[in-house]
Amino acid sequence: METMKLKDRVALVTGGGSGLGRAIALLFAEEGAHVVVNELRLETAQQTVAALKGPGGGRAIQADVADSAQVKAMFATIERELGALDILVNNAGIAFGPGDDRGEIGRKAEAVIMELVSGQGVRSHMDITQNLSDESWRRMLAVHLDGTFFCTREALRLMSRKNRGAIVNLSSVAALTGLESVPHYSAAKGGILAFTRAVARDVASRGIRVNAICPGYIDTPMTEPISPLIKKAVLARTPLGRTGDAREVAATALFLASDDSSFFTGQWLSPNGGIFIG
Ligand code: NAP
Repeated sequence: METMKLKDRVALVTGGGSGLGRAIALLFAEEGAHVVVNELRLETAQQTVAALKGPGGGRAIQADVADSAQVKAMFATIERELGALDILVNNAGIAFGPGDDRGEIGRKAEAVIMELVSGQGVRSHMDITQNLSDESWRRMLAVHLDGTFFCTREALRLMSRKNRGAIVNLSSVAALTGLESVPHYSAAKGGILAFTRAVARDVASRGIRVNAICPGYIDTPMTEPISPLIKKAVLARTPLGRTGDAREVAATALFLASDDSSFFTGQWLSPNGGIFIG
């Protein structure tokens, strides 16, 4: 039997109750890790933990990653109950902020697509940025950037005791190309990429590796509300001609979290079907 890639490792996956986080938690458990599943809502974290199949088991912890005190409390629990952390996956995320009118943004995006297809040039205006609220901008940066920083800071304190660890940050193709419908999301994901590079240099001497994943369009509850027309436009720009499966991102996370990627740090990998080739 092939050896499990994460045997005896303790992994924390934030936002692990849904989509990519859930798929990552399930795969890490299959590979032998003890998986701590974090979520905003305890029940969804518990549902993932109940589905874990592997020798290491897991546990659910509720915390809003955007709240420094809640993150500190989560890591205090991990330290008390498990004594160590080997892997952190900063996955928790949101596609829209509070008050964002997804319906309206979708309609504007569809209008642009229709104009592009007509060949007459784009005449309508998206104007997303000039209508974005402070509240939406701040929550977007809080969940993604503050959350990634708060969890990374606490994780590094635990990992530094053993001078070993792997951190995997979920960025996005939105960081690479910019996504006009969600400028705040694109900014947050770009910040995560720059943070990944800086922290990778910061902690390399400790044997801690920090890398990022920039997924393209993956079928999860986050992308489920995207309209058929927009999805068609995405597929038209995707050489592999399909959206991704959460397990394909989980496989990338497993590579970056395991010793298979021992010479990778400060890098990004983009499972995206070719929608961005750079
Ligand atoms: P998802 O299905 O919506 O899952 C995100 C999870 O994060 C949800 O369970 C959500 O909880 C949780 N969460 C949100 N805010 C949180 C917070 N403050 N603290 C703790 N947990 C929180 O989305 P997904 O598609 O799996 O996305 C996972 C990550 O991949 C995100 O960072 C996303 O930006 C990134 N990504 C996704 C895609 C894609 O195509 N799906 C592409 C590129 C990047 P609630 O459900 O309770 O809100």
